[in-house]
Amino acid sequence: ALFSSADDKTEVREYFNTEGFSRWNKIYSDTDDVNSVQMDIRNGHDQTIQKILKWIAADGDIDGKSVCDCGCGVGSLAIPLAQMGAKVSASDISDAMSTEAARRAGELGVKADFYTSDLESVSGKYHTVTCVDVAIHYPDDKFKEMVTHLCSLAEDRVLISFAPKTWYYVFLKKIGELFPGPSKTTRAYLHEESIVREALQQAGFEVARDEMTATNFYFSRLLEAKRV
Ligand code: SAM
Repeated sequence: ALFSSADDKTEVREYFNTEGFSRWNKIYSDTDDVNSVQMDIRNGHDQTIQKILKWIAADGDIDGKSVCDCGCGVGSLAIPLAQMGAKVSASDISDAMSTEAARRAGELGVKADFYTSDLESVSGKYHTVTCVDVAIHYPDDKFKEMVTHLCSLAEDRVLISFAPKTWYYVFLKKIGELFPGPSKTTRAYLHEESIVREALQQAGFEVARDEMTATNFYFSRLLEAKRV
């Protein structure tokens, strides 16, 4: 297919401002109006979030630190991090998403800064930079650049998750077992872990922790890297 990454990005933005927003806002809630596939994805995603929060809680030093969450969605990670005392700045390419994140934070009385931006345009320096389940929207050639950019924002730590390109997932994707239903409306990209590790290393980071979370329809490889 002859799609430039600019078209990819426009498509992703439009999707997450419309059908994608309703679909994912439901998945990232605790309401009953989800089907079994969506429930499975909700549980898988929640496991990833809990793993990150557990690591950060174990380190015990996030209070007062700056955190930049790129592609924050409805704030599933940003809000609990702010509740742990982090100074959170979170953005999403979708205005609908960042607005909903701000609304949820407000409802809980949580202070955090939410704004609309694609992650390439995010600037500044932060103690910790997080980017969870966003890479699936990035084509291969753009992905390494994205990791490098995230590293340039981070003084101490980067947490990134992506759908790993293993033979098993490539196979499932091919036979259409993955990305069932409406999620097929955006292209989905799997990524080779070696590319991520290479980009992290070249930016001066070392992988400190890793995790894999997989349910029937959700799979996410999570890396935490520290600046050396
Ligand atoms: N990180 C959140 C979480 O784990 O709850 C949301 C994950 S959701 C599957 C992917 C999010 O990435 C969507 O909200 C989408 O709008 C956002 N996104 C996709 N491409 C992006 C880009 N280039 N820059 C910023 N956000 C992007």
